[in-house]
Amino acid sequence: MLNIIFSLIALPYAPNALEPVISRETMEYHYGKHLQTYVDNLNKLVAGTEFEAMPLEEIVAKSQGAIFNNAGQILNHNLYFLQFKPYEDPKFETINPKSEILKAIIRDFGSFGAFQAEFEQKGTTLFGSGWVWLAADKEGKLVITQEPNAGNPVTKGLKPLLTMDVWEHAYYIDYRNRRAAHLHSLWQIIDWSEINRRYTE
Ligand code: MN
Repeated sequence: MLNIIFSLIALPYAPNALEPVISRETMEYHYGKHLQTYVDNLNKLVAGTEFEAMPLEEIVAKSQGAIFNNAGQILNHNLYFLQFKPYEDPKFETINPKSEILKAIIRDFGSFGAFQAEFEQKGTTLFGSGWVWLAADKEGKLVITQEPNAGNPVTKGLKPLLTMDVWEHAYYIDYRNRRAAHLHSLWQIIDWSEINRRYTE
């Protein structure tokens, strides 16, 4: 029997809690099958190697090839799925106006709306599969990065804060080819208290 080194994260919400932004069916495939497969693959790949005892972030920083791809996808999806909160009324303001993350967004992008527009534009124009990220440098300055395939801003020395997955498996069941519509919709379920926690920790 294969030794379990990495395991599937537990979700802090029910599989249908993000509807109608992300359907239960998408969760069953994206979390239940795609992420599970990356976990199973990494457990097979690292067994008996120097990576066996490393935290995910360190594997992503030090590995290449198949180990990097699977470890990166686990780290990316863990950050992705743990940044959501159950869907409520999208008319509610969900970001604390006094939070450090909002102050930094306004300082570095001019306004919350300007930040959202740039983030969506960079997610929409990323060619092929990958991830768009909000990340912070060592001084706390915020940047938006486009990362192809399994990329994560930790490889550039940045702290990852918020991400949107632009692999087709993230949106094709619910939005078909409409990636931009999917990205625009995701703001409704972002848990900004979690993003602020990542920024200030
Ligand atoms: Mn994905």
